Amino acid sequence: MTSKVNMEKVASLCKRRGFIFPSSEIYGGLSSCWDYGPMGVELKRNVKEAWWKAMIQERGDVVGIDTSIMMHPTVWKASGHIDSFTDPLAECKICHLRWRASDITDNKCPQCGAALTEPRMFNLMFKTFMGPVEEETNTIYLRPETAQGIFVEFKNVLATSRKKLPFGIAQIGKSFRNEITPGNFIFRTREFEQMEMEYFVKPGTDERWFDYWIKERLEWYIKLGIRKENLRLRQHGKEEMAHYAKDCYDIEYLFPMGWAELEGIANRGDYDLSQHAKCSGKELDYYDNEEKKRYTPYIIEPSAGVDRSVLALLIDAYHEETVEGETRVLLRFPIAIAPMKAAILPLSRNERLAPLSKKVYAKLCHNFMTCYDDSQSIGRRYRRQDEVGTPFCITVDFQSLEDDQVTIRERDSLAQIRVPIEKLEEILQAKLNGEPFEATPLWATRQK
Ligand code: ATP
Repeated sequence: MTSKVNMEKVASLCKRRGFIFPSSEIYGGLSSCWDYGPMGVELKRNVKEAWWKAMIQERGDVVGIDTSIMMHPTVWKASGHIDSFTDPLAECKICHLRWRASDITDNKCPQCGAALTEPRMFNLMFKTFMGPVEEETNTIYLRPETAQGIFVEFKNVLATSRKKLPFGIAQIGKSFRNEITPGNFIFRTREFEQMEMEYFVKPGTDERWFDYWIKERLEWYIKLGIRKENLRLRQHGKEEMAHYAKDCYDIEYLFPMGWAELEGIANRGDYDLSQHAKCSGKELDYYDNEEKKRYTPYIIEPSAGVDRSVLALLIDAYHEETVEGETRVLLRFPIAIAPMKAAILPLSRNERLAPLSKKVYAKLCHNFMTCYDDSQSIGRRYRRQDEVGTPFCITVDFQSLEDDQVTIRERDSLAQIRVPIEKLEEILQAKLNGEPFEATPLWATRQK
């Protein structure tokens, strides 16, 4: 089963409208690396803010953290990444391209058809050297997940936040994996951003919390505005479970290439804290005041990819429809996620319209992301705003100079209403908070 939306069309819109560009494009690009443009960066910020709000701000039992990308190399020995974070790879004997063994069925190179070598293990971590001398003893790694930063700070956060079990530590940040088969636009890249939370619980309560977080995280995507029918849960089979996991579920989205992982939720048991305690010689346990005993907490981890959520939102929002014989492309983003909430569009570039239009812009931009556009015809500007998913276009025309009213055009219904400028902020705020467009008070006149 695949989604009806075509990935090439979404990628082309992303390039055309400033969401996502190929990295280093003037030098021919760098495979599977992408840059977020002015619209993309706002979209991504909105996703991260929604996650932070739901996971930290609106709970009392989770705190945030921001740890370093480069960490002590022993972290990766303790975590198991040096020994186990590997994929079996087969190399083509002729063109030397390497392929994931699991993607190959007939032991032939998908590029040139030649025979492949026996699969060998390939570590996915990026290596570099710290300091001026490039030698083995200075080898460090770019983190392949943000989680380890949380485990090694467990004691510091526990001591300073004075939290009691169960509680969580969350962070958002970049991770790096030298993926063998990156692709599908921003779905699998070698540099990406994760939103991870480690929830520390008393052993024995872990299964209950595991179920709780699976439900909670699935609901978060639905609340974010992703269509329910495009989401599903999938439990990992024993053979695909990560080395640390007791149990694992993926939240999957129906991408154009098929169902694929958006987020993984794992019951990591006490693997991480025990390993770090063993390798560092420091105690990473917890004193339970009620039971008057010490134990190593178990960990439930919901681990999400920012870029994959962005991609799912783009695919979910992409629509093509026919309006008066022309194709209209629009991104039907939920309002909270839309990069721009409102666009101020003077009807023309006539200099009489500029002062009032700029005044309206100056007023709104304090409250939400607003843009100002007076280039080209009004029709083309509407089309551009539809394509970036701006829910409200506000047009200032010559009549506005007489009656201090402007027209609001709503992206999805194309309905237009005329409202007094002094009420504009209030009306838009109500719409941004979810009031239906039809519910605008009577003093606002409906336009054809
Ligand atoms: P996959 O099976 O797709 O390689 P994974 O199971 O290795 O993913 P996790 O280690 O569970 O992924 O990472 C948690 C989340 O981080 C994933 O659900 C995904 O959203 C994101 N993620 C992981 N690898 C990548 C990548 N190469 N590019 C973009 N996002 C990624």
